[in-house]
Amino acid sequence: MKQFILYARKAATSPDFSLNDLPGTGGRMDLVARCICNALWLSHDLRRDTCIHVVACGSPNPPVVISFYGNMLKGVSPDERNIAAWIKKTLALKRQNPGIMLRKLSFQELIAELASDGKFFYILDEKGTDIAGVTLKPDPVFVIGDHTGLPEEATNYVERFEHETLSLGTTSYLASQCLSVLHYELDNK
Ligand code: SAM
Repeated sequence: MKQFILYARKAATSPDFSLNDLPGTGGRMDLVARCICNALWLSHDLRRDTCIHVVACGSPNPPVVISFYGNMLKGVSPDERNIAAWIKKTLALKRQNPGIMLRKLSFQELIAELASDGKFFYILDEKGTDIAGVTLKPDPVFVIGDHTGLPEEATNYVERFEHETLSLGTTSYLASQCLSVLHYELDNK
């Protein structure tokens, strides 16, 4: 299974955000929804070998981890509004989806949990080793920052475990674009 971890510094942690204002009240929930879409959706299908964990660190109740699993999602469509609506329902504990899991967990706790499961981390950073020359380990976990990048303390924490810093080239991409580029590279490797 491929796993992505998105560190979303401002993403809302209560269901009180407006679906009409994902960037503002949602704390860049538009970015989060685009990342989930690019991580999991294909044309007319889902990537059943992939999941994405969003570490939401915005107000009022940080941190929470919202995980979307491609092999279990039901009734979610790939548009930003629908994905955000499911996040809202999940945060409200109103409706459950078998492919969406909410946990009161920090970034560090999530990393430690995956590390204890023997996972290898790839920290996405322009200044890392070019992906062209890297043979990826099985079941990789990719760690990606939001529009403000990965906080230094988060990077330092991941670096305690087995990891490599991976670059998709010198161009600085949007987080959501990184997911598409990564999938493209992996699909063609
Ligand atoms: N100004 C932010 C910074 O300096 O970190 C830009 C963050 S970028 C919009 C969002 C995330 O995408 C980054 O934290 C990094 O994880 C990833 N990223 C963007 N371009 C990349 C590249 N060429 N190679 C690897 N990762 C990249």
